[in-house]
Amino acid sequence: MEKIKVGVIGATGMVGQNYIRLLKNHPWFDLAYVAASPRSAGKPYAEAVAGRWLMPDPIPERIRNLVVEDANLVASSKGKCALIFSAVELDKDAVRRLEEDYAQSGIPVVSNNSAHRSTPDVPMIIPEVNPGHTELIRIQRKNRGWEKGLIAVKPNCSIQSYVTPLFALIRAGYGIKAVIVTTLQAVSGAGFPGPASLQMIDNIIPYIKGEEEKSELEPLRILGQLKEGRIIPDDSIQISAHCNRVPVIDGHMACVSVKFTDRKPSLDEILKIWKAFASEPQNLKLPSSPDPAIIYREELDRPQTRMDRDAGGGMAVTVGRLRECGVFDYRFVGLSHNTIRGAAGGAILTAELLKAQGFI
Ligand code: NAP
Repeated sequence: MEKIKVGVIGATGMVGQNYIRLLKNHPWFDLAYVAASPRSAGKPYAEAVAGRWLMPDPIPERIRNLVVEDANLVASSKGKCALIFSAVELDKDAVRRLEEDYAQSGIPVVSNNSAHRSTPDVPMIIPEVNPGHTELIRIQRKNRGWEKGLIAVKPNCSIQSYVTPLFALIRAGYGIKAVIVTTLQAVSGAGFPGPASLQMIDNIIPYIKGEEEKSELEPLRILGQLKEGRIIPDDSIQISAHCNRVPVIDGHMACVSVKFTDRKPSLDEILKIWKAFASEPQNLKLPSSPDPAIIYREELDRPQTRMDRDAGGGMAVTVGRLRECGVFDYRFVGLSHNTIRGAAGGAILTAELLKAQGFI
């Protein structure tokens, strides 16, 4: 199979750098176009990220000299790529316009930005949870007169650590009534340079702008149903979120208490469901799909951020500490890598799904 040429807009940022790393040897996608702000435009990639390349591996040789384009000049992508990953940090209206301009020009866009997450005809996808929501793209294309272009988005990085384990239980027939989740989120989630070291070392910040709202609302849309051309969110689940910034580099942890509706599974059943969990990406054997998608750690003190965030190449959700809850039914701890599963890796998996489904 000939590889699809892809581009990354916002390629110099925290998420953008993860795309560069994860696409290095991708079997389906060939990174051919990198773009960022006018500040970086015109420079070779290595020069544009000089002093702020934060990946553990060196910049891939063939990307070092790729000239960074101005992401705002959509025409500069013409003929260079057939798929765009969007990781730009701009105001929401500008992001919406920019992503629509790329899609209008015939290029599918998979985005990390929150700008289009509540746009009615844009699907927000966790490939293991709602792969069928991509059907909304048919309506999107009809609404907008796009033949090849499309926009699909990833949810916020905070929710990956708990939505898939909860979905596994819902899919097994156990309805969920309420969830209280406390997240412990890495500094890389704030982009580069992120919070100042003097704010972060020896400290926890119990506020991340907009994060609690996203953590409460986005799961309901993802767990919702596609009916009559739109997503009906699952408003039957109540979610209350506390989001904290903690001094770790990568990895968002979530401490979760869950209450079921009429009947609850036993602890053993929950473990069986999580351990056996597989979904569309695993069935389709998509190149970036983790298998297993959910890893349960039996040790009393796991998951731990530094030890478990890279599980499954940073794409698995690691769960542990399942136990009864004195107020709700059960409690557990979930962990996922925010810039891989929660950002670049999750978007690449979404693009693989779209390709397998024939949308790209
Ligand atoms: P970041 O490190 O601040 O990088 C921002 C990127 O946007 C850089 O490439 C920057 O280019 C580019 N940019 C800034 N101003 C621009 C402009 N006027 N025109 C075109 N490009 C411009 O941010 P990030 O953490 O990578 O996040 C990128 C997006 O992903 C954000 O929407 C964020 O909310 C979302 N996200 C982040 C995470 C995470 O864990 N970090 C997770 C999920 C989603 P220059 O280098 O040239 O300035």
